[in-house]
Amino acid sequence: MVTVAPDPADPSTLGDGTLSVHVGNSMDPASGAVRTPLTLSNSYALPYDPREVDWTVTDQLLYTRVSGINQLALQRKLAALEHAEDAVVLASGVAATHAVLFTYLNSGDHVVVSREVYEATYNLFVELLPRKYGITADLVDITDLDAVRAAMRPETRFIFTETIANPTTTIADLPALGELARAHGALLVVDATYTPPPRFRALEHGADLVVHSLTKYINGHGDALGGVVVGRTSLIDPIKQQAMVDVGGVISPFNAWLIQRGTSTLPLRLERVIQTAQTVAEWLESDSRIEWVRYVGLDAHPQRHLARQLFPAGATGMLAFAPTGGPDRFNAFVAKLRLIANATSFGHDETLIVHVGASGMRQDLYGEPFTATGTLRLSIGLEDAADLIADLDQALAATEA
Ligand SMILES: *Cc1c(COP(=O)(O)O)cnc(C)c1O
Repeated sequence: MVTVAPDPADPSTLGDGTLSVHVGNSMDPASGAVRTPLTLSNSYALPYDPREVDWTVTDQLLYTRVSGINQLALQRKLAALEHAEDAVVLASGVAATHAVLFTYLNSGDHVVVSREVYEATYNLFVELLPRKYGITADLVDITDLDAVRAAMRPETRFIFTETIANPTTTIADLPALGELARAHGALLVVDATYTPPPRFRALEHGADLVVHSLTKYINGHGDALGGVVVGRTSLIDPIKQQAMVDVGGVISPFNAWLIQRGTSTLPLRLERVIQTAQTVAEWLESDSRIEWVRYVGLDAHPQRHLARQLFPAGATGMLAFAPTGGPDRFNAFVAKLRLIANATSFGHDETLIVHVGASGMRQDLYGEPFTATGTLRLSIGLEDAADLIADLDQALAATEA
């Protein structure tokens, strides 16, 4: 058997668990501390002649809007986790999405966008970019490849989609979309917040650029906002130059440090939430008080074949469901939950639920069953499956007509 000696400086020699712990963390030579310290400093020492500084280089420690110890450490780890050449971390998931759009779109450009995308993404494409910059978008059913192809134009720069859509769980066929984008000289940009590494790496399935809200699974503890874009160095460098240095939506060193700590347990947490989500989804599916449930691990998922192809070992702890009785019951049901918190965001250690309203523009775009009943989005956390099921069970019992 040939073995490769593990080298923390070369992530390709490390397994997912090892690199999640070791990459971007090193002993501090000044103190001997075994963890990379939190460095709260806006500036770093300049050389004797500051005119020699190359301000276009974003891995030189000069000023924290350009780079900082904790940002660089997190970027190294996230690039390693994604098997990507490079990463840029920013203040939030939305800042990361905006950074891609700001860097790569110009007036007159066109984008093909999944109609099921995060609210701020939707607002950027539908409201802000057309009005402010003359950049237009066609919203499409991302599962209809003919519709995607028909929407492509000579000035189309991107296809933009989520891997698994929030909150509908619609799966995008990334390999097919990647091919389609390339055939038109466009990029496939993927918001993979529902499907974090190491379980799924969108870059290995046809994506050119991948955005994550670090706020969710990757930090995993519900206590810091952040965003990242990963991809080839030739695509990430302009984002650092234009959107990070010149627009300035940088992450704070403290949040970068918190997220770096959170990522140490990312592979373990994902294993746990995927297992628990499967158990909870099967329980919901078997219960007559539930009208429908959507989870990518269920045989009843409308795209089960694509789910098995892209996520053979599971990908997410996010599911969507509706109790019988219609949306009037949803708020009462949520109010009766004792463990599961009524709150937005997801991917935290605690399980969260949110009632996504049945009215409004975006819900109309989701189609059935979401439009008719509205949706409860459930983010499975690290609690015991039996406790979560017992909580759901008692809240269903307490709200029976
Ligand atoms: C939360 C979320 C975002 C935005 O991330 P923030 O960190 O809140 O800015 C973007 N896309 C998806 C799919 C999300 O769930």
